[in-house]
Amino acid sequence: MTIRFCSLSSGSDGNCQYIETKNTKLIIDAGLSGKRIEALFKEVDLNIRDLDGILITHEHIDHIKGVGILSRRYDIPVYANEKTWITMEPIIKEVKSHNIKVIKNNKNIEVKDVLIHPFNISHDAVDPVGYILFNEMKKLSFITDTGLINEGIKEKIKNSHIFFLESNHDIRMLKEGSYPWPLKQRILSPLGHLSNDDATEVLADVLKGENEIVLLAHLSEDNNTPQIAYNTVRNGLLREGFDVDNDIRLLMTNRHGNSGIYTLD
Ligand SMILES: [Zn+2]
Ligand SMILES: [Zn+2]
Repeated sequence: MTIRFCSLSSGSDGNCQYIETKNTKLIIDAGLSGKRIEALFKEVDLNIRDLDGILITHEHIDHIKGVGILSRRYDIPVYANEKTWITMEPIIKEVKSHNIKVIKNNKNIEVKDVLIHPFNISHDAVDPVGYILFNEMKKLSFITDTGLINEGIKEKIKNSHIFFLESNHDIRMLKEGSYPWPLKQRILSPLGHLSNDDATEVLADVLKGENEIVLLAHLSEDNNTPQIAYNTVRNGLLREGFDVDNDIRLLMTNRHGNSGIYTLD
């Protein structure tokens, strides 16, 4: 059984992650225009009409911009918790009632052959969540837009085969950069975003070195570069004793395009 995964786009310009199992096709967030997401699907030869659902992490515009248009155009169910629904509804506009799926944090739901576990994360949105997806023996964890990852979350995501994890900024670039101080404080706060160092620390605690796929996600355009994020995490994991080049598939996502399709057998 193969799972296919593609990061169609990741970063503050818009987020959309695609997951496909034998029977189910989902995206997590749809934070670009409907047109742009349709174009991204075409680029990797995927059919947007087949989607079984859109899972929403939180109501920031880089995660919900295209949700309404895609749901209306292709009759796609949208899954979000109640507070997120209330906050995003005026932004995404009316969605058909049969496509409004209200979920509860920490309560598993099933969409065809995928078991979905939404869990609380720490971000300045009304009720943000990360997702763990289970299909047969495979486990995929998705966490971006969180200021911290506590021990409870680390326990939850252990034993995943894919870790899609925020590596938002280099702390020094952020501190020395041009952002106004309140914005710097927001990003660095427990309700902000994970730094490259934070991502390294989390991965060092949860990885087993059994060829897990790690995708570094939601990189800042101004306070990070793909090279710096990659090197920080790689060097940190090497220091922790991981044979990064052989035991882990450390990969980058892209702010302005797809990651290509990864398969998990
Ligand atoms: Zn975001
Ligand atoms: Zn956000």
